Amino acid sequence: MIKRRKTRTVEVGNIKIGSDHPVVIQSMTKTNTSEIEKTTRQIRSMEAAGCELVRVAVKSPEDASAIAEIKKGITIPIAADIHFDHTLAIKAIASGADKIRINPGNMKSPKDLDRLINCALEKNVPIRIGINSGSLEEVSRAKCPSDVMADILLKYLESFQRKNFHDIIVSIKSADVVSTWLAYKKAAAGCDYPMHLGITSTGLADDGIVKSSIGIGSLLLAGIGDTIRVSLTDTPILEIETARRILSALGARHFGPQIISCPTCGRCQVDLIPIAKKLEIEIKNRFKTKNEYKKPLTVAVMGCEVNGPGEAKMADIGIAFGKNKGVIFKKGKIVEKIEAFRAVERLMELVGQ
Ligand code: SF4
Repeated sequence: MIKRRKTRTVEVGNIKIGSDHPVVIQSMTKTNTSEIEKTTRQIRSMEAAGCELVRVAVKSPEDASAIAEIKKGITIPIAADIHFDHTLAIKAIASGADKIRINPGNMKSPKDLDRLINCALEKNVPIRIGINSGSLEEVSRAKCPSDVMADILLKYLESFQRKNFHDIIVSIKSADVVSTWLAYKKAAAGCDYPMHLGITSTGLADDGIVKSSIGIGSLLLAGIGDTIRVSLTDTPILEIETARRILSALGARHFGPQIISCPTCGRCQVDLIPIAKKLEIEIKNRFKTKNEYKKPLTVAVMGCEVNGPGEAKMADIGIAFGKNKGVIFKKGKIVEKIEAFRAVERLMELVGQ
């Protein structure tokens, strides 16, 4: 079990964020927010994939106003992503945004910040203070970017604390996994606000998934992180699926059976890779809803009698193959022997609904 860092709880719409609550999956739309129908459609597909909090870019008054209409067609809370102009944040709050994200790199005027904090206090809307290394000049010049990012964040928090505003979530994203990790560690030691995790600008899916898994996963393992967003140069659906996989791999949340399958080697006497792939597709189709399961369920698919029976026994359901046949285990006990071509069908029957 991961021991979470103790944080305050921050309410965003109908969800609670912080150490007493499950790690929340976020993503961001890739549409022009003022195109209401298109944006609403994208958010609904994100909801169906398991997104629990959506962020939209607000770069104009039209985008801010669109939030009121978009909210009518969705069920998850919506966060408005604001840069440069505090009046857009105030407009987004008036339009019903459940959370505001601002960037200390481009919202520096104490007067503007005061106005925004007053408005958020009055309307009870939380603010995410999201550092992004790309928008801080000091970071590009720094010998130790992680220290600079964390220090800027902690200093910025003072304006909020002076006004007794604590509905805050923080994030410190950079494209560099190690700098991000160090910055989060330092900031986590300096405040008790929930943290939103992410590695920014990770690139296309293959590299992005690896960087996000290492960065987000290692922080979660260290107990840091209360919401996550995987950023990919790809669809938001892939971002959400990856976020779910990271949380499942850590045992932090359970969204369906986990497959444990061996890499195969010269001892394998069955065509195991297509069997495992078919099983994965069947499981994905059956468990594609955003439902969450209280208990993990593991299904082992093993290629031979060396590690196979051991892994298959430890899983909830498992199969250890021999020559074109397999022995099925359930909760550690052999339940039957079957032909390899029937394996997927039978395992799915045992997995149930
Ligand atoms: S379980 Fe058997 S077939 Fe699979 S990798 Fe291990 S030794 Fe090879």
